[in-house]
Amino acid sequence: VDEIDSNLVRTVKSCVFSRSNPTPLRGSLRLAAVSKDVIEGILDVDVEATRSEDFLLYASGAKLLPGSVPLAHRYGGHQFGYWAGQLGDGRAHLLGQYLNRKGETWELQLKGSGKTPYSRSGDGRAVIRSSVREFLCSEAMHFLGVPTSRAASLIVSEEPVLRDQFYNGNVKTERAAVVLRVAKSWFRFGSLEILAESGEIHILKKLLNFVIREHFSWIPWNDPDRYLVFYSTVVTETAQLIAQWISLGFAHGVCNTDNFSLLSITIDYGPFGFMDSYDPNFVPNSSDDEGRYRIGAQAEVGLFNLEKLLVALSPVLTQEQKKQAKTVLKGYPDIYRMRIHQLFKAKLGLLGEEEEDEHLIVLLLKMMEDTRSDFTMTFRQLSEASFDQLRTRNLTQAWALEDLSSHKLFSDWLIMYLQRLSRPQRENELHRQQRMKGVNPRYVLRNWMAESAIRKAEENDFSEVELLHHILSSPYVTQVSAEKAGYAARPPLWANRLKVSCSS
Ligand code: AMP
Ligand code: MG
Ligand code: MG
Repeated sequence: VDEIDSNLVRTVKSCVFSRSNPTPLRGSLRLAAVSKDVIEGILDVDVEATRSEDFLLYASGAKLLPGSVPLAHRYGGHQFGYWAGQLGDGRAHLLGQYLNRKGETWELQLKGSGKTPYSRSGDGRAVIRSSVREFLCSEAMHFLGVPTSRAASLIVSEEPVLRDQFYNGNVKTERAAVVLRVAKSWFRFGSLEILAESGEIHILKKLLNFVIREHFSWIPWNDPDRYLVFYSTVVTETAQLIAQWISLGFAHGVCNTDNFSLLSITIDYGPFGFMDSYDPNFVPNSSDDEGRYRIGAQAEVGLFNLEKLLVALSPVLTQEQKKQAKTVLKGYPDIYRMRIHQLFKAKLGLLGEEEEDEHLIVLLLKMMEDTRSDFTMTFRQLSEASFDQLRTRNLTQAWALEDLSSHKLFSDWLIMYLQRLSRPQRENELHRQQRMKGVNPRYVLRNWMAESAIRKAEENDFSEVELLHHILSSPYVTQVSAEKAGYAARPPLWANRLKVSCSS
């Protein structure tokens, strides 16, 4: 009954945004982390200024920038396969657009900044745990080269928040935090779905025109096929984004249509996870009982979501355009496969194209799965090992490859791989290693690493958040401090027992 009542309250018509002011955090505030790259490179603010009291107020929602009219966005979405009706920013406020010195437009948002007209039963807050995860992961993804929203700052408060902690099944009091985050756009598939679903076609068209004009400005304005061109772009870029996720062992965790960006950037960092051992059935979200969003299903889910986007666009497409759009969508699996093939070829350092390439990739993944080899470090250690080390199987320094080498097909695979590396011609060894190291990170935000930093952050020690933020800003470069912290070592045993869920 509660659910129905609150649904009725928040159901509105004919709007894309509602005005909604952030609720200031209670208790004293602390700046827990700041991204110099975003603050200076995107927001044109000297990072020193983030130490001021004013910054704490602005970046937590207690004070509004001149001209800012905070908004909560109304959207809908398919969640776990089903139409979930009207949703919306339940704990995020859009502060406005900022046109920076470089001439780029960025949308500023606060997350965890209090209730909005679209909060259902939630409290509008975000806890330190989930805010640290979003801050660190969105920045890490950027430096891994993945299109993503960015995080500017993380502010923690003393305001208590109750959350069901899946670690021990207890309800635990945590503290509220606010992330100031930026993206070129926060519009998602669900932004269009809600309008189509409610028959608000006039607004649907208006929003589409806005998104195309702002973010797809290369599509000619008078092109009668512009919605089709837009759709086809989203299809291609979504396929490419998911391929990139997979190539890094990243599982988003909640691939609902309201979490899929129209600009094909990674948004909504909740119960995501980088897998340790390679496992296509890796499910990062402990609330995802059926494993709908397991890592190996993400490409298919992308297709499902794109089908729903097409349904949302249908009211503005002609019969002929709808037919063409369906043909475009049929091309999705091939776009995805081609991109994945390219990415994994690069991870293996293969140049040119040879018949056995696909087999080399598939067999490696199969061996990794059978031996539960570490995904990130297997590729990294293949990049770091010299040709001769591989040839003589001198792998004592390479723990992930040692695991892999227990597979009965490893020798055969290795012979094939080394032969393949000599074609089209044997490349300078350093060049090959450089190339491979540039696409195979040594450090990703493993759950145990985030967890360790979170435990300290909850005690007001933000040193490990800072360390991780720093290290993950150069994930392809070996760093002394990271080695000391064990970030490239075999994950500790307790890492296996960690769980993350939507409760954040
Ligand atoms: P998500 O699974 O993160 O995409 O969230 C789904 C919906 O739940 C979104 O509309 C969120 O804004 C809303 N939501 C999640 N947590 C809270 C919260 N603590 N308070 C209010 N709304 C929330
Ligand atoms: Mg969401
Ligand atoms: Mg979320």
